Amino acid sequence: MLAFPDPVPTTASSLLANTEVVVAAAATLDEGLDCHDAFPTKAFEHFRERGLLTAPLPVELGGSDLCEASETAALRDVLYLVGRSSLVLGRLYEGHVNALALALRYGNAETRRQVSADAKAGHLFGVWNTEPATGGLSMTRHGGVLELADSKCFASGAGHVTRPLVTARIEDGRRLMLIVPLEPGVRAETKSWRAQGMRATATGTVDFSGLQLDVGAVVGEPDDYLRQPFFSCGAWRFLAVQCGGIAAVFEALRTHLVNTGRGGDPHQRARLGEAATRVETARLFVARAAETAAVAEADPEAAIAYVNLARGAVERCGLDVIELAQRSVGLSGFLETHPLEQRIRDLATYLRQPAPDHALASAAGYVLDAPRAFHALWQKL
Ligand SMILES: Cc1cc2nc3c(=O)[nH]c(=O)nc-3n(C[C@H](O)[C@H](O)[C@H](O)COP(=O)(O)OP(=O)(O)OC[C@H]3O[C@@H](n4cnc5c(N)ncnc54)[C@H](O)[C@@H]3O)c2cc1C
Repeated sequence: MLAFPDPVPTTASSLLANTEVVVAAAATLDEGLDCHDAFPTKAFEHFRERGLLTAPLPVELGGSDLCEASETAALRDVLYLVGRSSLVLGRLYEGHVNALALALRYGNAETRRQVSADAKAGHLFGVWNTEPATGGLSMTRHGGVLELADSKCFASGAGHVTRPLVTARIEDGRRLMLIVPLEPGVRAETKSWRAQGMRATATGTVDFSGLQLDVGAVVGEPDDYLRQPFFSCGAWRFLAVQCGGIAAVFEALRTHLVNTGRGGDPHQRARLGEAATRVETARLFVARAAETAAVAEADPEAAIAYVNLARGAVERCGLDVIELAQRSVGLSGFLETHPLEQRIRDLATYLRQPAPDHALASAAGYVLDAPRAFHALWQKL
């Protein structure tokens, strides 16, 4: 990893331009990526060279402040752009940003220094929280040594992410965050990741059994990972990536209608208009969710409810755009040679996020019991 030149220093304003360059190059850097067992290694080298791996760090630690509330719009645009180019890259980059955001928020000065050095050295971070139905990662402490047992599943970048932030159950049942230094390719099982879409994310199972760590690996206090409003409101970031994926499906539909000369048909026009409405609805919801999350501490419950509503809205918009595109393009959109085919598979897969029913029901509960009328609920955020 140290073989690369130092990343280009960036400001939040130059970051968007760098992101455009990176995603344009990424399209050609890792050819043939839409297959099992692949990973966009070269694209992430480019992310590093252009300062995107360090961008989430504070300026004083060599980053671009991308995790600061003041830079929410910049982060939203970066995630959207990456997602529009590739949901695989978007998912992985969002995990990197999320891990650094958690380490910066809850870690001590040494953690902040260490993650900054690691990001500069080209390590890819990720957040691995999901667990198999039984078992799941646990941790016991023996003096200054932490010993891990069992595994995480649905861990993106398994075998490639070398600085995962994981949640591990401790004796009293609460969970601690740890950053686990891993060598590439170790402890990862990705053979079962035979998913319809998002194939090159290497989303696998990682078995940490027997691994020993220094206490310095701990980030924050028990259950900090779940601390509200940050836990629920953080969902806006994956919504921004999904929003990019929805726009990419729409663009493939629009291009198809232009290229085939079928756009003049009134049925096609109506479907395109409906799809355009869904793309814009998702974009507006994500923009507002991001703004709301940035000031969530002013009214945590209201902010959480808004982001939860945005989750349902973006999912619905994504599913609608998929259906409209498939009906408009027809069978040729199912052929591997058509740009829609992979985009739809990736989007359909990435739209699956944790507990969507719970998110909607809890937002509905907030609205039901709210102290104000619906129109006034989010006026102050
Ligand atoms: C491409 C990709 C990469 C991922 N990478 C990571 C990663 O790096 N790290 C990580 O931690 N996770 C990762 N995940 C996992 C992700 O965070 C979610 O855990 C996962 O997508 C949840 O999907 P699910 O549809 O099975 O969700 P579920 O939450 O199981 O939902 C499935 C359905 O069951 C319902 N449901 C949920 N709970 C209950 C219940 N108790 N009783 C009844 N019904 C219920 C839901 O509302 C929904 O209708 C990734 C997922 C994807 C798609």
